[in-house]
Amino acid sequence: MEHWETIAGIYFLGINLLGFLSMGIDKKRAKDGEWRISERSLFFVALLGGSLGSILGMQVFRHKTKHRSFRLGMPLILAVQLILLGILLGLSGKRTERTDFVMATVMTQVLYGPDGKELADEDYQIVSELERDYLSWRSGQSSVTEINTALSRGEAVALDARERQWLEDGLALCRDSKGALDITIHPVIALWGIETDTPQVPKKEEIQQALTHTGYDRLTISEDGILTGRNDSSIDYGALGKGIACDELRSRFANRNLTGAVISIGGTILVYGRKPGGGDWQIGIRDPRGTSGSLLGTLKLREPAVVSTSGDYERYFEEDGIRYHHIFNPDTGYPADSGLISVTVVSEKGIVSDGLSTACLVAGYRESLPLLEQYQADAIFVTENREVYVTEGLKDRFSLTAEAYRYMNEEE
Ligand code: ADP
Ligand code: MG
Repeated sequence: MEHWETIAGIYFLGINLLGFLSMGIDKKRAKDGEWRISERSLFFVALLGGSLGSILGMQVFRHKTKHRSFRLGMPLILAVQLILLGILLGLSGKRTERTDFVMATVMTQVLYGPDGKELADEDYQIVSELERDYLSWRSGQSSVTEINTALSRGEAVALDARERQWLEDGLALCRDSKGALDITIHPVIALWGIETDTPQVPKKEEIQQALTHTGYDRLTISEDGILTGRNDSSIDYGALGKGIACDELRSRFANRNLTGAVISIGGTILVYGRKPGGGDWQIGIRDPRGTSGSLLGTLKLREPAVVSTSGDYERYFEEDGIRYHHIFNPDTGYPADSGLISVTVVSEKGIVSDGLSTACLVAGYRESLPLLEQYQADAIFVTENREVYVTEGLKDRFSLTAEAYRYMNEEE
């Protein structure tokens, strides 16, 4: 909750104003020869936190009180007020950091707020349960495993509300990207073994064979949330899961005592709330050809925003000098070869930012522009020639810092 800070601010302002006004009223009453406000009442206002206003009032209206407690009490209360304010601001700016391994990647949280530690634990729980119970096909108890088993038996599957939302959003992204994103691509991924320790380039015929089992357009969700597909269809949340996790975390933030947060799950980063001290959040974008710590540039963000980066450097192997990476072109069954080596997408929604970063890497720069526009998302593209293209909405927000790249500011 950010409200309590605002409430504290209004309280201090109000009580100070009250202190100031009561001094004025008191002075006027004295002038008119009327009954004056008792010193005890003035003292009480000051005690509640109105000493700044009261002191100012004394100065302005020259309220000369002889009461010793008033003279001594004022500075004391002033000090108490400052300490209180300091604690309030200090607590809201308290920083907690936590790093975990989840969703086959590193999750880092930086939370600002008094209960950071508990909330960071809770976030980790939420994401690992989401992985175990819903999204991971590696997990025997996940709903996606259940769905895939049912599909393989030719059965229809009743989806719960959240699953339905994820799958509808995911299928829309597949359609809108004209199949650059395909959530049924798993047979191809499995064939290449890209997620195993022994990846290999399959034979052409094997790839053709695997491709006969893919195709998002074979999945349909009926009006009442029943999923049907072919018995060789299977769903893979690999390209969407981190974005979904960010959306899930974000949906819980409104009820929390948190002023700001930056949470990254692999290449997907959620920014929430305000940065202590104000200003935009600043995120580093990784140099796709640098070491893991080196940056392409920095991106300034304001919430609500989720940033996802997909690149050919995340997971890959080399054979005969060729790099084979983990994002596949669903048309060919080979790793995406669009001329892009990294795409960063900014969107309000995690699932959109995660899905589009994968889709754009497959689709290529030109084809991605209308897709981004449709979703009101922005992107940073890096080509294999080390050129960097940035869409309009990020031009003032992204600064390229890596010297090996060229900033291409296109006029269209
Ligand atoms: P990362 O996992 O590195 O953050 P992505 O979000 O782009 O990258 O997801 C890549 C994962 O998505 C792959 O590991 C694979 O499981 C799956 N995948 C690969 N190509 C596609 C594709 N064209 N459409 C949908 N999923 C894909
Ligand atoms: Mg993705």
